[in-house]
Amino acid sequence: MSQYLLKIGRLRLTLLITLISIVCSVAITLTILTIGLGKISPIGLIISIVAPLVIAPLMSWHVIGLMLKVARLEHDMRQLATYDQLTQLLSRTVFIKRASTLLNRYQKQQRAITFAYLDIDNFKLINDNYGHSAGDQVIASLGKLIITKTTGNDLSGRLGGEEFIICIPDLDLADATAVIEELLTAIRQSSVQCNNLELSYTVSVGVTHTNSTSTQSLEELIKRADQALYQAKRTGKDKLVIV
Ligand code: GH3
Ligand code: MG
Ligand code: MG
Repeated sequence: MSQYLLKIGRLRLTLLITLISIVCSVAITLTILTIGLGKISPIGLIISIVAPLVIAPLMSWHVIGLMLKVARLEHDMRQLATYDQLTQLLSRTVFIKRASTLLNRYQKQQRAITFAYLDIDNFKLINDNYGHSAGDQVIASLGKLIITKTTGNDLSGRLGGEEFIICIPDLDLADATAVIEELLTAIRQSSVQCNNLELSYTVSVGVTHTNSTSTQSLEELIKRADQALYQAKRTGKDKLVIV
């Protein structure tokens, strides 16, 4: 509702209300005049047009202004609650909620679903060597690459700090892994401009996949992906490990 109000805009809403007021006023006046006097008075008709033409814009302009302010606040609050502000990926809570619903449905339908848990390598060193704001720029850059390399069907979220999660539905393990490998290649080839420096970074990934009526919960699948991520870290980083 609020989105529609914002789209229409204050001026158009005021004009619309004025027009509706005039139509209603004329209709009521005509009914009263016809029933009461048995004829239509031109003066009555003019008043029925002029009165709402003057009053409706004055009243509605202010009220619509307030309504739009509330609609804008509601929209901003929803954006803040849904998306991580640094990366524009889903926030942890929203990702868990949406992925949980998707997983339940996919398990019932025996459809394939893959989870990839990503963690930036040696991120603490980036912060320590180049500063917290450089670290933030790296996080934001990874967010952009994830958005570029995934589709509208996938769910991507920032779990917190330098940790991310991607849920890829409907691809078999090989194809889902290829998507993540492509992302890793893009990350290796990318750099972040910071204080006249070109920072490069790498990411490790743990992947888990399910395509049967497994009853594993989202929590268990994320835990499995996290274990795979741990293997990737232990065995050299900048790689993908599947469990
Ligand atoms: P590993 O390769 O094993 O993942 O090592 P790491 O250094 O990436 O991991 P570690 O967990 O030791 O360090 C993560 C750091 O991320 C610690 C924390 O201060 C920093 N951090 C967490 N959230 C943010 C953030 O929003 N911005 C920035 N710049 N740093 C953050
Ligand atoms: Mg971490
Ligand atoms: Mg890390």
